[in-house]
Amino acid sequence: MIFYNKPYITGAEFQYIQDAIKNRHLSGNGPFTHQCQNFFKDTYHFKKCLLTTSCTDALEMCAILLNIQPGDEVIMPSFTFVSTANAFILRGAKIILADSSNNNPNINEAEIEKLITKRTKAIVVVHYAGVACRMDAIMAIANKHNVFVVEDAAQAIDSFYTNSENKKQALGSIGHLATFSFHESKNIQCGEGGLLVVNDERFNSRAEIIWEKGTNRTAFFRGEVDKYNWVDVGSSFLPSEITAAFLYAQLQGLNNIQRIRKEKWQLYFDGLRKLAEGGKISLPDIPDYTTNNAHLFYIVCKNIVERDDLILFLKHKDVQSMFHYPGLHTSPFYLATGENACKLKNAERFSDCLLRLPLYVELGEEQISIVIRLVYEFYEAKS
Ligand SMILES: *Cc1c(COP(=O)(O)O)cnc(C)c1O
Repeated sequence: MIFYNKPYITGAEFQYIQDAIKNRHLSGNGPFTHQCQNFFKDTYHFKKCLLTTSCTDALEMCAILLNIQPGDEVIMPSFTFVSTANAFILRGAKIILADSSNNNPNINEAEIEKLITKRTKAIVVVHYAGVACRMDAIMAIANKHNVFVVEDAAQAIDSFYTNSENKKQALGSIGHLATFSFHESKNIQCGEGGLLVVNDERFNSRAEIIWEKGTNRTAFFRGEVDKYNWVDVGSSFLPSEITAAFLYAQLQGLNNIQRIRKEKWQLYFDGLRKLAEGGKISLPDIPDYTTNNAHLFYIVCKNIVERDDLILFLKHKDVQSMFHYPGLHTSPFYLATGENACKLKNAERFSDCLLRLPLYVELGEEQISIVIRLVYEFYEAKS
């Protein structure tokens, strides 16, 4: 059986977890939490980093930080995970769903401006598969209309955007706020985990307070106040030191993990190129302004019937493959909120036609060859 994903363990996780136990600091905001946060600040020039229990939680923190009120509007791509939307729905926001680009599932920046109204509070972008959205255009629209930008960078660790002045910026360092995921399906993982990045320092002190259940405990630990107290809303957003210890081991393996993932990604890309040139499928388009972090490898089939047939064909040959998001605009929950059904052509095409192939560190080259051969076999049998 060739599995779709197998979470990678560097081997150092056990030692660090033991260290965390020996430290007798098991709740959050301890030495491993700080080491992880510092890693991100040093490596990617993120201003302020707070480890969270998930990317979902980090997104919920963003919605609180941006003071989202009932009726506020938040623009986001329809082709995304439910957490991107739920975080804002929970504060009473109305989500405004935008279509994907033609050549990749990211939000089509040309669609954003006409969706902006007086009630728009934020634009949430998703760097799908670690491929950057066109951040220059998006930040310009946001600045012009005085709205905030949140980067849902759940899939985008170690990926970069090159702006129009040829400056390379880490994804997650560009919007006012950004969020990452360390769910076991992501490149770097700790089972369940996430990160909030605060790039706009106006949010710094409130972010810490919301993170610590509405108290100023973090400032207290730094000796800035002599008692800590309930000062704002908040919740339990910190992961334990056990989780942070696991994550720290993964972060130390990051360069190795990324090198291997990129090699495997390239094997698929080169191996399937001929099929794509023959017009049977399309391969991921990585524009010049973005790097590829090899978060996932996908192909785009002609239509949903062909895509679903290919999933079944691979399944019968013991290969797992996965479609991805059904557009949020077609979901039962969205439609039940009384929103009108709408047509988002590109999002629907990626929902119907995109297929993700197995990709993980321990996936062997022979296994990749098998998957590639099977995809060719499927299309040969069809023609
Ligand atoms: C994985 C993912 C999330 C959710 O991450 P969790 O850490 O599981 O909460 C949110 N948005 C996107 C785009 C994702 O890929």
